[in-house]
Amino acid sequence: THFGFETVPEGEKAGRVQGVFTNVASKYDIMNDVMSVGIHRVWKDAMMDWLAPRAGQRLLDVAGGTGDISFKFLGRAGSGHATVLDITESMLVEGRQRAEANDMATQLDWAVGDAMALPFKDNTFDVYTISFGIRNVTRPQEALNEAYRVLKPGGRLMVLEFSQLPNPMMQKAYDLYSFNVIPRMGKLIANDADSYQYLVESIRQFPDQETFLSMVKAAGFENASYRNLSLGIAALHSGWKI
Ligand code: SAM
Repeated sequence: THFGFETVPEGEKAGRVQGVFTNVASKYDIMNDVMSVGIHRVWKDAMMDWLAPRAGQRLLDVAGGTGDISFKFLGRAGSGHATVLDITESMLVEGRQRAEANDMATQLDWAVGDAMALPFKDNTFDVYTISFGIRNVTRPQEALNEAYRVLKPGGRLMVLEFSQLPNPMMQKAYDLYSFNVIPRMGKLIANDADSYQYLVESIRQFPDQETFLSMVKAAGFENASYRNLSLGIAALHSGWKI
């Protein structure tokens, strides 16, 4: 283990995750910008570039939080519909306020639910996205299996998540930065070091690009591949339900 981080027992993970996001909901958008120096916007735009939303598509944005991905998707698609699902209601409340302010409310639905047991029928959506969400899910493979189930044949999966840097020296430098700087910044700005400690631990524990790719394939997705973002600090994984 690195820097003494603990592994959260599986049974406690969901509760802890909800606690973290309930605490940060009202400050989530601003903290995202501060912590990533705005880079999360560049990554989300790269996600949209690869996804290439089309008019009329039906999106399910899981762990959608305050709605960033859905807003970008609908903006690019021009027309269409997005369902934002999240396990933390207070994140969705923030998102719905943003949607109303942006006159996008009619194109959006908001649903509380768990990525591992989606409250939707088989073959419902054209696109499934999960952005910085799947590493918080207790059993990510089950979330991927559910993604496959609710997508229509021809539907597409796109996952944006923190990943591992292939270069060990760079990974070491990045670990030093994240384990020392991020929790302190979280304390300073949000008076919440623990939530940001959780953030860096969950990033380091998440499977690397190749391992996650094999999980995408195991869920049944075809033509699965990934792209690194910012040297592998984050990665996009894509797959198709044929
Ligand atoms: N997708 C948004 C973005 O990219 O800005 C929000 C990401 S936020 C870092 C992670 C979100 O995952 C939180 O809103 C949290 O409530 C949600 N989440 C965690 N576990 C979940 C689960 N099992 N099912 C659905 N959502 C979950």
